[in-house]
Amino acid sequence: MRDPFVISGVTVKAGSIARVEIPVARLVTQTQVSLPVTVLHGRKDGPRLWLSAAIHGDELNGTEIIRRVLKRVRVENLKGTIVAAPVVNVFGFIDQSRYLPDRRDLNRSFPGSARGSLAARLAHLFITEVVEQCTHGIDLHTGSNNRTNMPQIRADLKDPETRRCAQAFSAPLMIRSKSIKGTLRGAACKRGIPIILYEAGEPLRFDPPSIRVGVAGVIRVMQEIKMLGSPKKQHECRSLEVTSTKWIRASRSGIVHLDVGLQDRVQKGQHIADMHDTFGDVVARIKSTVSGIVIGHTTNPLVNRGEAVVHVAETPVT
Ligand SMILES: [Zn+2]
Repeated sequence: MRDPFVISGVTVKAGSIARVEIPVARLVTQTQVSLPVTVLHGRKDGPRLWLSAAIHGDELNGTEIIRRVLKRVRVENLKGTIVAAPVVNVFGFIDQSRYLPDRRDLNRSFPGSARGSLAARLAHLFITEVVEQCTHGIDLHTGSNNRTNMPQIRADLKDPETRRCAQAFSAPLMIRSKSIKGTLRGAACKRGIPIILYEAGEPLRFDPPSIRVGVAGVIRVMQEIKMLGSPKKQHECRSLEVTSTKWIRASRSGIVHLDVGLQDRVQKGQHIADMHDTFGDVVARIKSTVSGIVIGHTTNPLVNRGEAVVHVAETPVT
């Protein structure tokens, strides 16, 4: 029989599921706040995969993706272990905010420390209880405030195991990118743990297509690394791979009208948006400075000079 999985002092026997509430801290009202984690510990040996969502507390698509994935997986058929944390930044989730109550960004606080700020302590808890017990990770995000993203994987694609997971996920786009200091992805990479980050949709919304792509992607990764049985038909990776992305910014302040949407192809010099004044006249035209595919854009029409309007992944000119 496989050894049990122990998390926060709770022992999960092979072939069983446990819902664990890991104590984090108390609110100012003394209400205990805990990190909810579901562990599916298969009877047979295999990879140990964590799924994390809402590290930014207002990014909800990932929380729903995890809920649906857990409904699809039966522990009896599982090789290895799933450690699912659908709400990592519980404080931000309660506040419907990206941040911790002190405005710290949890995804700039990894690996954290046991005696630091609330964000540092939560990051440290997640690293020690979850990440360091796992062999693979999938971190689920959406665009940040007033932005939406086309479904995309961001990962260190130079690492063969990470690339294998990214290709199996098969989002429409894979971006080869280095991780930023302080992120969960950076902390996992430093520990040699392959991690892919899925970005799709916008905060405080469920986006059904992004959720569907996410659920199918997570399941395919689990099949690829042999945690689940593979489907009869071999899956082919359909992701477009890019290495460089660029935000096109507003040349002056105004009310923006976009002429492009997610997944549209644009050419360098192509008109992509107009800036209007409050009388309704055009005060500036925004052109793309690169050729590529629109992978994100602002959802707020009120834009100040210099603010990011459209995010383009550069693709070779066809
Ligand atoms: Zn995020």
